[in-house]
Amino acid sequence: MKDILQKINELASNYAGYTAGNLSKLVKIKSLSLGEKEVAEELKRQMLEAGFDEARIDKLGNVIGRIGNGKKILAFDGHIDTVDVGNPANWDLDPFSGEISQGFVHGRGTVDQKGSPAAFVTAGKILKELAFEKDLTLYFTGTVIEEDCDGLCWKYLVEEEHIRPDFVVITEPTNLNIYRGHRGRMEIEVSFRGISAHGSAPERGKNAIYMASRACLEIEKLNQRFASDPFLGKGSAAVSEFVSGSPSLCAVSDYAKIHIDRRLTWGETKESAVAEIWEIVKDMDAEVVVLQYEETAYTGLNYGMEKYYPTWKIAEDHPLVLNAVKAYTGLFDKEPLVDKWTFSTNGVTINGCYKIPCIGFGPGNEVLAHAPNEKVPVSDLVTASAFYAALAYYIAD
Ligand SMILES: [Zn+2]
Repeated sequence: MKDILQKINELASNYAGYTAGNLSKLVKIKSLSLGEKEVAEELKRQMLEAGFDEARIDKLGNVIGRIGNGKKILAFDGHIDTVDVGNPANWDLDPFSGEISQGFVHGRGTVDQKGSPAAFVTAGKILKELAFEKDLTLYFTGTVIEEDCDGLCWKYLVEEEHIRPDFVVITEPTNLNIYRGHRGRMEIEVSFRGISAHGSAPERGKNAIYMASRACLEIEKLNQRFASDPFLGKGSAAVSEFVSGSPSLCAVSDYAKIHIDRRLTWGETKESAVAEIWEIVKDMDAEVVVLQYEETAYTGLNYGMEKYYPTWKIAEDHPLVLNAVKAYTGLFDKEPLVDKWTFSTNGVTINGCYKIPCIGFGPGNEVLAHAPNEKVPVSDLVTASAFYAALAYYIAD
């Protein structure tokens, strides 16, 4: 294994410019969620150019690259949509410049997260060059709509494409640490129905704003009672929107609606989170719903899911984590940090719903995700491409 690891490191370094160049090409193509067509075609082209056995685009618009045909399946997943740029005045360079300078690739999506697809294309190229022939199928997925609805793309891959890997590496930015979980989340809407009456005689009505306000203050208090997990931390709830209506500004409000951003820790589920809210509003004329995501992909396909993104984690001594640590230590001669993400990823369905063991490993600092002046060190891309290639050997053995 030592020889192979050395060769992998050499090739990854030799391909630094190639990887950075591929990333630059991906960054130059704007690809907001539901608008990934062009970037998907470019990633597919890069996979074929790198010598992948197959690269195709499914009906949701995901790019699916494959190397090998073995029984065991390892997948590397990186989403290819990005968030928008925000105020362009906050950027020093054009967000879509893809400029490579001073050891960095610059632009929207370099960290979150086109850097890793560029790195895994190189990993595939390295494996091909080393004539990797083990009993392993490697999938490399450039997935869509993650920023709008994390996990939806993998619901599609599992249920419609019937791809069910034994292990998945989520390549969202980890600053080259190994991550093994994150909190889940859900979007809850509560609507309140009041009875309007003339504003001069409010006692005749039932004010929906007062009802919703009382509920909001109770939801705030829930934060003190939420469960905590030693690894993932505490659950949380934030009211992120308050909308109300009334027949006139001289009338008692008869309608209010709040939106709750609920973060879920280990042991908290959709049922438990919804029950907590019902407990607060049970004596009010209120309704609690978990929202639904349903949009049209760039391919024209309508696809959706409930906005419930389950919590996930795997054990520190899970074979996937242990193999990742071995690959890292073998390549770089130092111990990796094993930690968790603050934000949410496609792991919500891959592990949260389908229980497929996942780890995270990706180039770039998550602090720069969704921020202006996003940039990724070329050295991170090199490290990631070496790690992805090496992990294939450890998983195969
Ligand atoms: Zn991301």
